[in-house]
Amino acid sequence: MLALIIAQPYPMCMSQPLIDPFARAIEYLRVSVTDRCDFRCVYCMSENMTFLPKKELLTLEELDRLCSAFIRLGVKKLRITGGEPLVRRDIMTFFRSMSRHLDSGDLSELTVTTNGSQLERFADDLFAAGVRRVNISLDTLDEKKFADVTRWGRLPQVIRGIDAAQKAGLRVKINTVALKGFNEAELFDLTAWCASRDMDLTFIEVMPMGDIGNENRIGQYWSLNDLRAQLQERYQLTDLTEKTGGPARYIRIEETGQKIGFITPLSHNFCESCNRVRVTCTGEIYTCLGQEGHSDLRGPLRGSEADIDLDNAIRAAIALKPKGHDFDYSRQRVDGQVSRHMSHTGG
Ligand code: SAM
Ligand code: SF4
Repeated sequence: MLALIIAQPYPMCMSQPLIDPFARAIEYLRVSVTDRCDFRCVYCMSENMTFLPKKELLTLEELDRLCSAFIRLGVKKLRITGGEPLVRRDIMTFFRSMSRHLDSGDLSELTVTTNGSQLERFADDLFAAGVRRVNISLDTLDEKKFADVTRWGRLPQVIRGIDAAQKAGLRVKINTVALKGFNEAELFDLTAWCASRDMDLTFIEVMPMGDIGNENRIGQYWSLNDLRAQLQERYQLTDLTEKTGGPARYIRIEETGQKIGFITPLSHNFCESCNRVRVTCTGEIYTCLGQEGHSDLRGPLRGSEADIDLDNAIRAAIALKPKGHDFDYSRQRVDGQVSRHMSHTGG
């Protein structure tokens, strides 16, 4: 045993990849850098949100140390999200700092999910920091409906953000939440619009997360099985086998060559291939988006400057990753709901 310990080139915790109890390798980290947002999307937030006091949030330096620990432990892909990540003060300092892990080759991709409102300002800086792809959330191309669904958002500002992102050289993927009775009629317009701008498009089923006031979850839910069937009436669809380790399944529309993604937590469970974990802006790690269980990383982060304590806390959290979520609407009621908002964990 002694000989074995001496033979280890690194301490155990640095040399072993992050593997969860179901043999899934964890290589993808999504970090929410703020719970705040300049929009109030009806499926995500209530109109009157109480946000965390600033002292609860990890500082940008702490976020850097935490992300760097995950990268040291084998995370290859880092997505920055929120709330709206680009409204966090000085967030470009953080992106610039993270780019050192791209330069070293330890990180293969640095990406961001945004509502697009601040991209006109930041697209060039993101590209300069090594970001090459952005996900932009957009549920409708109708200005009035956009204002309704986001409550505080304005469509022209987001379109200018998309223009700026493409001009800067960022590859854009549009994320659209499928909402019954809201954007059903726009399915083909949204698809054609993305094709005309050479943007990928992913549809997301609405998930029961957080108290959203008087909005009705079941009423909002539009199954992507239905959406796909509608697309199939007009286009020839080919299933793509590509696996990203993520929840999306992809098809190609043969007529346009476009790739369309479906994120279907309700109609198809995708947990068996889940390779990701999420960290909130307060340093809680959620190893499953659809479960309440989480562990604290802020304590170990603030409690010691020794990386070993942080690494061990990350490993202990990954060892608790559950098999999957329990979201279910099939009994005409909302099952498996989690109390926190998507903006808390980061979408
Ligand atoms: N503010 C950024 C944005 O909107 O892209 C990043 C954070 S947002 C929480 C990330 C993604 O989560 C968005 O694409 C949003 O549409 C999605 N989202 C929020 N609440 C959701 C819910 N209840 N069900 C499904 N998707 C949700
Ligand atoms: Fe803000 Fe994104 Fe949530 Fe909309 S979905 S309220 S933009 S965090």
